[in-house]
Amino acid sequence: MSIKNNAGFATRAIHTGYDETGSQGALVPPVYMTSTFAFENTDSGSEMFAGEKAGHFYTRISNPTLAILEERIAALEGAEAGVATASGMGAITSVFWTLLKAGDEVIVDKTLYGCTFAFMRSGLTKFGIKITHVDMTDPENVRAAMSDKTRVVYFETIANPNMRMTDVEAISAIAHEKKDCVVVVDNTYPTPYLMRPISMGADIVVHSATKYLGGHGDLVAGLIVGTAEQMLAVRLEGLKDMTGSVMSPMDAMLIMRGMKTLEIRMDRHSASAMEMAQMLEKHPVVSKVWYPGLKSFPQYELACKQLDQFSGMIAIELEGGFEAGRQMMDALQMIKRAVSLGDAETLVQHPASMTHATYTPEERLEYGISEGLVRLSVGLESPQDIMADLMQALDSLAMSNARQAAE
Ligand SMILES: *Cc1c(COP(=O)(O)O)cnc(C)c1O
Repeated sequence: MSIKNNAGFATRAIHTGYDETGSQGALVPPVYMTSTFAFENTDSGSEMFAGEKAGHFYTRISNPTLAILEERIAALEGAEAGVATASGMGAITSVFWTLLKAGDEVIVDKTLYGCTFAFMRSGLTKFGIKITHVDMTDPENVRAAMSDKTRVVYFETIANPNMRMTDVEAISAIAHEKKDCVVVVDNTYPTPYLMRPISMGADIVVHSATKYLGGHGDLVAGLIVGTAEQMLAVRLEGLKDMTGSVMSPMDAMLIMRGMKTLEIRMDRHSASAMEMAQMLEKHPVVSKVWYPGLKSFPQYELACKQLDQFSGMIAIELEGGFEAGRQMMDALQMIKRAVSLGDAETLVQHPASMTHATYTPEERLEYGISEGLVRLSVGLESPQDIMADLMQALDSLAMSNARQAAE
């Protein structure tokens, strides 16, 4: 049975790209754990290498298990084609090495995931590529930074770690005034269930599938979607020859297993995070809460326009800055102190000393990542237990603050 593009999200997440009739009726797609594929005869192999004949011949280029996942993520993002990679960083770097050459310019938002920032700042600049950081909360800043050498405009749909959002439609329109400028966005935080940037004008979407798509904290992987032409170029240039960042078929199976429950997981992540954000906002030791679903969120209107729900990530700032954050994090009992996000387990981390330690303190200040920010990935545990653990940690901080004030 072929799945129609207008089928519901969960239906596509469960069925797209797989027909069991070629696989002895296996309900779940077989995992093709093979590096290479035998040719019927010499001519057939030569034709595949020349791109004249379809078929798999080496897993760094393509694999039947990966192909199902690639078609599935493309369907969910509303794109023509997809490419699977070994990590989110593998997805980002495979796209950039494909699109760029020395002399090109890239415009990026001020806030980026730490390793993406390091790749741009310390990696690409070594090869004669100019990176310009602008505050994309005002799309006009992108226009001001565009030049005849701008090749890529890049941002995160909800920025890691401070939750800044970007008007995808407005920025894409500005970027596309230059014909060969490509808009690449990282849609890791909302996932295609909550936001579909291609429909808003973006060209290429990248994911850390390590996070919500896999959803269980048991693998590291990445995904890319875009036009068939773009994805062929990424596959044959960036992925095959430049990064070699190939996803294991075993991980593809695990991601497809995770994606079957993406819709119900994101519903729960979003509902629990909304509850936690509202509670956190009321707690006296919390000075700021950044959650796109709160009316106090600076870009609340944009968040409502672009997101179906608000996902499971919250950034907070405590009275007393990082020292208070450290105390609160160490007082947590059920919630784990760990980087990464989107897992069943609720996770808490401190970006300035952990995921965003790739920035210098001056850069963090300049790019809007405050030293006291604490990032929370709200998991799938019973909401009352997440709430209780957060409350007891915040209350103990409040008590110790009161004790200090009395001394
Ligand atoms: C984690 C993350 C990445 C990097 O992904 P890996 O799978 O760890 O390589 C990129 N972008 C965002 C927004 C992330 O959260």
